[in-house]
Amino acid sequence: MQIFLDGALEMYRGGFIYVITGSMFSGKTGKLIRNLRRVEIRNKYAEDKKKIVLFKPQKDDRHQTSEVVSHNDYKFEAVVVPDVVAIAAWVEEHQPDIIAIDEVQFFDVLELLALLIKLADQGKAIILTVLDQDFACRPFDGVAELFAEAEILEKLHPICEGCGKRASRSFRLSDSDKVIQVGGKEAYIPLCRACRNEH
Ligand SMILES: [Zn+2]
Repeated sequence: MQIFLDGALEMYRGGFIYVITGSMFSGKTGKLIRNLRRVEIRNKYAEDKKKIVLFKPQKDDRHQTSEVVSHNDYKFEAVVVPDVVAIAAWVEEHQPDIIAIDEVQFFDVLELLALLIKLADQGKAIILTVLDQDFACRPFDGVAELFAEAEILEKLHPICEGCGKRASRSFRLSDSDKVIQVGGKEAYIPLCRACRNEH
């Protein structure tokens, strides 16, 4: 059975951390948005309506306070934040019940995890997406610790561009050695372990 946030809200007495991971193009953000959409519909009927916030990392110097993240025809407003301190301040001020964070690898993951543990201990539901590995198949710093702390760990797999089977790696086509590149399909393709090893 598929995991969904509305089900997890019934499953746990207090707070919890739900991690959606996988390589690039595995549909992590889409799954995150679907989860938030389900809770919004649940909120129409439930007595205990859950206040949701979605954070996105600020990836460059452009001034930006909010951004709409969409999946199919459904759009969700996100709060764009530069760092973990900004997330902590926003949560302290607005006291959401559900804290969603997209693309956690762009933050200091260990610093963020310390905050998330505190918030989950306070009863907050945390849902986030994170890339598991960089282009060289190395785990991002702090991701292993994040996985260990999560109540729910969901790994998504796109289709391998090399063989059409299940992919688990993000293969970089460009020559830049920057670990994190802001870019789309032109720079990376999903590959499976076997196809990745042949490159
Ligand atoms: Zn393959």
